[in-house]
Amino acid sequence: MSQQGYVATPPYSQSQPGIGLSPPHYGHYGDPSHAGSPPGMMKPAGPLGAAAPGGMLPQGPSPPGPQQFGQNGAHAQGHPPQRFPGPPPVNSGAPSYAPYSPSTQSSYPSPASTASVTQMASQLNAMHINSYGSGMAPPGQGPPGPPSAPLFQGLPRPPQPSIMQPGSQVLPPPPTALNGPGASPLPPSTHRQDGLPGPAPLNAQYQPPPLPGQTLGTGYSPQQGSYGPQMAGGQLSYPGGFPGGPAQLAGPPQLQKKLDPDSIPSPIQVIENDRATRGGQVYATNSRGQVPPLVTTDCVIQDQGNASPRYIRCTTYCFPCTSDMAKQAQIPLAAVIKPFATIPSNETPLYLVNHGENGPVRCNRCKAYMCPFMQFIEGGRRYQCGFCNCVNDVPPFYFQHLDHIGRRLDHYEKPELSLGSYEYVATLDYCRKNKPPNPPAFIFMIDVSYSNIKNGLVKLICEELKTVLEKLPKEEQEETSAIRVGFITYNKVLHFFNVKSNLAQPQMMVVTDVGEVFVPLLDGFLVNYQESQSVIHNLLDQIPEMFADSNENETVFAPVIQAGMEALKAADCPGKLFIFHSSLPTAEAPGKLKNRDDKKLINTDKEKILFQPQTNVYDSLAKDCVAHGCCVTLFLFPSQYVDVASLGLVPQLTGGTLYKYNNFQMHMDSQQFLNDLRNDIEKKIGFDAIMRIRTSTGFRATDFFGGIFMNNTTDVEMAAIDCDKAVTVEFKHDDKLAEDSGALIQCAVLYTTIGGQRRLRIHNLSLNCSSQLADLYKSCETDALINFFAKSAFKAVLHQPLKVIREILVNQTAHMLACYRKNCASPSAASQLILPDSMKVLPVYMNCLLKNCVLLSRPEISTDERAYQRQLVMTMGVADSQLFFYPQLLPIHTLDVKSTALPTAIRCSESRLSEEGIFLLANGLNMFLWLGVSSPPELIQGIFNVPSFAHINTDMTTLPEVGNPYSQTLRMIISIIQQKRPYSMKLTIVKQREQPEMVFRQFLVEDKGLYGGSSYVDFLCCVHKEICQLLN
Ligand SMILES: [Zn+2]
Repeated sequence: MSQQGYVATPPYSQSQPGIGLSPPHYGHYGDPSHAGSPPGMMKPAGPLGAAAPGGMLPQGPSPPGPQQFGQNGAHAQGHPPQRFPGPPPVNSGAPSYAPYSPSTQSSYPSPASTASVTQMASQLNAMHINSYGSGMAPPGQGPPGPPSAPLFQGLPRPPQPSIMQPGSQVLPPPPTALNGPGASPLPPSTHRQDGLPGPAPLNAQYQPPPLPGQTLGTGYSPQQGSYGPQMAGGQLSYPGGFPGGPAQLAGPPQLQKKLDPDSIPSPIQVIENDRATRGGQVYATNSRGQVPPLVTTDCVIQDQGNASPRYIRCTTYCFPCTSDMAKQAQIPLAAVIKPFATIPSNETPLYLVNHGENGPVRCNRCKAYMCPFMQFIEGGRRYQCGFCNCVNDVPPFYFQHLDHIGRRLDHYEKPELSLGSYEYVATLDYCRKNKPPNPPAFIFMIDVSYSNIKNGLVKLICEELKTVLEKLPKEEQEETSAIRVGFITYNKVLHFFNVKSNLAQPQMMVVTDVGEVFVPLLDGFLVNYQESQSVIHNLLDQIPEMFADSNENETVFAPVIQAGMEALKAADCPGKLFIFHSSLPTAEAPGKLKNRDDKKLINTDKEKILFQPQTNVYDSLAKDCVAHGCCVTLFLFPSQYVDVASLGLVPQLTGGTLYKYNNFQMHMDSQQFLNDLRNDIEKKIGFDAIMRIRTSTGFRATDFFGGIFMNNTTDVEMAAIDCDKAVTVEFKHDDKLAEDSGALIQCAVLYTTIGGQRRLRIHNLSLNCSSQLADLYKSCETDALINFFAKSAFKAVLHQPLKVIREILVNQTAHMLACYRKNCASPSAASQLILPDSMKVLPVYMNCLLKNCVLLSRPEISTDERAYQRQLVMTMGVADSQLFFYPQLLPIHTLDVKSTALPTAIRCSESRLSEEGIFLLANGLNMFLWLGVSSPPELIQGIFNVPSFAHINTDMTTLPEVGNPYSQTLRMIISIIQQKRPYSMKLTIVKQREQPEMVFRQFLVEDKGLYGGSSYVDFLCCVHKEICQLLN
């Protein structure tokens, strides 16, 4: 295995003394100790298991009809990667550029640096604008084109580079006849200071400078210059043939031109194109290595042998055959796995397989579970494992004859033979202490210190609990929830409550020794809600009164978690703590925190300290919680610094969720909080989970990011995992991969259901392998790439200077694109920027990541907010990270009240707004309704029921229910956007030219950032320059 220096290895993989987030034993790509580890020995999954209540569960699925699965069998159906003679052999000669060293190569204008101004200016001078698609390879030159798209059985394909169009081409040569005169002038260099500190007007549009004459290209129509709907490869046509040789494309270096934002790749256009070609259709997962529709495209997914993209998405669906090739391209090989993803009601839920006492059938050597990648041989008596190639005997109970093509006769009757995803009932071997688990418990823990009582929060929580406890999650076949509930209140001491059903009044027990918390009662603490309903309601009525006269300001925090965990431990069940907390825990107790928010650390090598917990108490607490299946969800109501980096650690590592409501005000924020609370209590969740990723030979999982804890290099432990949480897994080669066998991944999650049953959830995915770089680039998914880059960078934030991380991201972006340019694109002028079709919008998304407040070292953004966003992103799935980094911006004034379709989104730039317009922006955490000063009065009347712009009250956080189509449609759009998102978005009304507009503008991510961070255009120039350097 030779993995040194691969991709972002240098800095990210440095040994990090553990604060728990990155135990030193993983994340080391070059660590030889990994090389010998077998590809998948499941640790005797620890104490795990549930008797298989066979009678309760359907014995296998109703078999999908053969006609439906006619083309099934991923291992047999993989399309061989297509070859084409064009590109130079990938292994011929050394990589064209040396491994980068971030500190010397990057010229990405970090907010703290001013050195890049001249570089930028000269770069721009050297850059040449061209129409999109110019510089196409003359026929017969260059690679005979990327392979034709594999056959996808009638599925629509996203635009693929073709012979004529090896990729999107932007920013190329001078604005000449190619784009029409003056179409794309570069900006004056004086405006080129993006990323420099200091606010800049957001609407800094570059003035078109006068254009000197240009060498004319050949007959391009002016329209080609815009990156409009023509973007889809197949739709482009180039009247007049192709431009001449590269020389023609170069312009005078002193030329200064403006880059037309319309000429650079548009995320909206990419999203809309995918919707147009693949939206509303059935996507069947029957082919190996097929690239799914984008996360933003609605379609119906049909499992035909590979896991749905709702469960697993990959950065690329074609892995390079060798690690040399992987190093050359520097494209991260990763999967974003959301094992409990919500499946829409029109798709088939997972089948449950029950082999009774026999348990799941597994490979003897690598312990992989029976799946479509197992090949039955010898008349069905044995099978060869697709992961380790071991030949296993088929257990007698599982024997079945083969048909004339070697497939078992029961192929379509067994989900584990024909589907990508399914569940197994686990046997007692998979249970802790070999006995069935108890159903989980929920413990509600309320901070009753002075401020929470005074502002009414405690009363609000208690009132709401009475309602939401009615909605505890339950198994579909059950009438009531098996989940038991318990209640604790606290300030600097803890109060446990006995709510046993036979009591007339709840009883309180106070624990004052917070140094060593014990659980003062067992019987009566965790109860069935239905049975104890009246005592519980009695308690919830009393709690606000009980502490009404308390003046206690100090709180503890770690002992609260400890108490909840001990209670679950004592009850021998997994569970979830719901903690409602407001302040920095300064009371004398373990985990006591001091205010250490130090802005002076920003932009220094010590900035990482702000993201680390200030004591190791929380780290070891998290470890204990995971060991006992205790998930912690934290609702924070801070009015000042509370040290989110410390308080949020346990929630993050235990698969819980952190919610934060700054300066919580009852009338403004309670709706958002209550929505979050309801959603969190009701959501689907698995407890006490261990995830294991198995891979076919030649590669393996090396690094994991998410709400997880790892005690060794392979077992991903999770106190709980819910439907919104994703784990991102990075893969590395340890040998060559074969094109014919592909790359297989099996994700197995052993967990306890909300009903207390032990199960295994299996997801299988088969990817292609190729020795052609073009295949790799063709199969990339930018949304998944950004998810990976965000998580790896946000993990690195704990250990690395931010400047280094930003440089790595820029460098790696440039490397990936330069490699494509060098090896896959047609020959053309060096000054052209050529992007692979699958990565057209990688630069704009990467720039959004770089501008996120976590990576942007700016004192204007609170330390807690940065720590909060860092934590959120670490567990995001691809759809959530896509929306988070590139918000959805909808022109509301264009909405058609007769249609249920959302208006087409527009790009996140101030230049796209208009005074006459009303726009809705959402990023998954926040939602804004921006009103232009000249908004149409009928719309204002329709939405707000007031006569004019001036009458609109911007204090509201929900829109009034006005009985007209505008109001109804807009409120419906808001609820559609909110659906399926893990966090309730608070609506803020923003009027143009009023102060709160500043907040809104931060989300116009294509513009220069308020607090630094390049505009998209400038970043693209920067990346282009890096690429040119690499190619030279
Ligand atoms: Zn095996």
